[in-house]
Amino acid sequence: TNENLYCLFESKFPANRSAAAFELPDGTAYDFEALVQTSGRFANLLVATGAKPGDRVAVQVHKTVEAVFLYLACLRAGLVYLPLNTAYKSAELDYFLNDATPAVVVCDPADEASVQTIATGAGVARVFTLDNRGKGTLTEEAASQSPDFTTVIRASDDLAAILYTSGTTGRSKGAMLTHNNLASNAQSLVTAWAFNEQDVLLHALPIFHVHGLFVALHCAFLKGNKVIFLDKFDPDTVIENLPRATVFMGVPTFYVRLLGNPAFGAEACRNMRLFTAGSAPLLEETFKEFTARTGHVILERYGMSEAGMITSNPYDGERIAGSVGMPLDNDVRIADEDGTLVADGEIGILEIKGPNVFKGYWQMPEKTAAEFRPDGYFITGDMTVKDPNGYYRIVGRAKDLIISGGYNVYPKEIESYLDEMPGVLESAVVGRPHPDFGEAVVAFVVPDNSIPVDADSVIAFVKDKLANFKVPKEVFVIKELPRNTMGKVQKNELRKMAEASA
Ligand code: ATP
Ligand code: MG
Repeated sequence: TNENLYCLFESKFPANRSAAAFELPDGTAYDFEALVQTSGRFANLLVATGAKPGDRVAVQVHKTVEAVFLYLACLRAGLVYLPLNTAYKSAELDYFLNDATPAVVVCDPADEASVQTIATGAGVARVFTLDNRGKGTLTEEAASQSPDFTTVIRASDDLAAILYTSGTTGRSKGAMLTHNNLASNAQSLVTAWAFNEQDVLLHALPIFHVHGLFVALHCAFLKGNKVIFLDKFDPDTVIENLPRATVFMGVPTFYVRLLGNPAFGAEACRNMRLFTAGSAPLLEETFKEFTARTGHVILERYGMSEAGMITSNPYDGERIAGSVGMPLDNDVRIADEDGTLVADGEIGILEIKGPNVFKGYWQMPEKTAAEFRPDGYFITGDMTVKDPNGYYRIVGRAKDLIISGGYNVYPKEIESYLDEMPGVLESAVVGRPHPDFGEAVVAFVVPDNSIPVDADSVIAFVKDKLANFKVPKEVFVIKELPRNTMGKVQKNELRKMAEASA
């Protein structure tokens, strides 16, 4: 049988191919017939460039339905889809194209000249363009191609995509994902989150990342759902379209911004059945305020580029603030740096094994080997605790762990105290090299402007609550935390700021 992920999707599309697969806020609709035909034309065009199964197709374009069809075309042609963050500039693109050596690149027409230069240097055979309205040489040339395309046979462990990680802890790594990695995770989510044929997904996430591309779209494909497709997150547009939807997936900042809009409330959510959050920790405050305002309880889940979704709060059953729930269809365990399992209730690093876990980092055999245990468990790098109720909590990244005077300091613990301080909206804690202690604790706090806060009042507030070695040696009051598009706090930048002022 053909294990190509596209075949799984196609087998789930509605029998009536004139049902809407995508709809834009302006009412423009794309039915499943258009999805099948356009992805077929794109696949024929890609194959006509000489690209062979296993070759990479690097894509840095605006979010459009055509870009989704391009992803499906790559699957169909057995090509490896490689989406790139639209924020990347030429120096980054140069790195990615030389690292991934794609056969084809698709970029925005505005970047064509600079991308062509980099692509030529990287040995790319062909550059196509696709703009924010789905126009460009890709769609123009595909128009004369046949819509008929026989989906290429793929084995379950053939590559479907390479997803570069967000680069939160260092240089992005290309996670190699197979057809079965993606298929198995999608099936787990559809079951865990009770997707049904009547669902309508409101999609506001970027599609160069695991959350928007795989988690959201794959669930919709597996039930043949309609996706209301927003080109970006904008609270007003989301509120306007929510009444037509049943499912919404967001990063925590989406929820913060929705709550910041007075027009948002139960009325807009009247047809909704599920709100999920992930990619970064959801603050307890946001979780609670959301329920108070809408009556809905956000379902937080946890995952990563390398494995898709790993744990999830239950669909039926209690969803707990600050928790990422229980393991999906993968085995998980918590161990220390050396791989010794820690007792329940103790902090360690989460290790996982299952059909969702990637094949390795693209062209990084040593890094790959270092991140897997001999028995096949992947070391996620996320510090985790299993609570007595069986729920898991992510307490930070192993790389963010501060070791001060020989003691382990978990930034999250200090951050949660700081967040409780009146006048503080949120906070981030990092380590700064220190001649005596190895590292010193440095805190960044963002005021909510209800009452004044300064460095001294912050230190005084935590001093009698925390051991001395955890009390920040310096506190910076800043307007906002540096975040990337997925709402992840960029601790690397904070560390640089802390060091610069030392
Ligand atoms: P890099 O690996 O390049 O440093 P990254 O880890 O941020 O970047 P992604 O794969 O996009 O790249 O993100 C996965 C990470 O996001 C997880 O390892 C975890 O640290 C974090 N994450 C995802 N969901 C949650 C969540 N619900 N709560 C806390 N952290 C989360
Ligand atoms: Mg990572």
